[in-house]
Amino acid sequence: MLKYYNYDIVFQEIPNEVTLAVNITNCPNRCKGCHSPHLQKDIGEELNEERITSFMDKYASAITCFCFMGGDAEPQQLSVLANFVRVHYPEIKVAWYSGCASLPERFDTRYFQYIKLGSYDEKLGSLKSETSNQHLFQIQQDGCMKDISYLFKTF
Ligand code: SF4
Repeated sequence: MLKYYNYDIVFQEIPNEVTLAVNITNCPNRCKGCHSPHLQKDIGEELNEERITSFMDKYASAITCFCFMGGDAEPQQLSVLANFVRVHYPEIKVAWYSGCASLPERFDTRYFQYIKLGSYDEKLGSLKSETSNQHLFQIQQDGCMKDISYLFKTF
């Protein structure tokens, strides 16, 4: 079961989008210097279709993107919820911030417009750093992943 700790409307996680970012807990990654260690705990409320519907009832008119922040412990369940957003809110883009270096096996990227990959490495820095190991990809219609990380350097 996916659970979330909190959420916020943010402007910088996905360039040129107003994003409802939902912070998912039970993160299996153990990044040194983790900015949100509480997200490694199995805490929070269930994130499911009903919860997403209630978020959208409140915020769909104010956002352009819905971003799952984490969820690496249950990528297939995350994929189901991403498809739910895609089908029921076609005007809202769908994003995923994963802390893994690569996609899970047989992961369907068609449900997403954006996917960020890469753990947090305090020596290399965040997406805004020139040396970052993290990358943000825009998913193209043919499924190709276009690296758009450079957009973080031009803010
Ligand atoms: S992926 Fe994010 S929440 Fe998880 S350990 Fe790394 S920095 Fe912390």
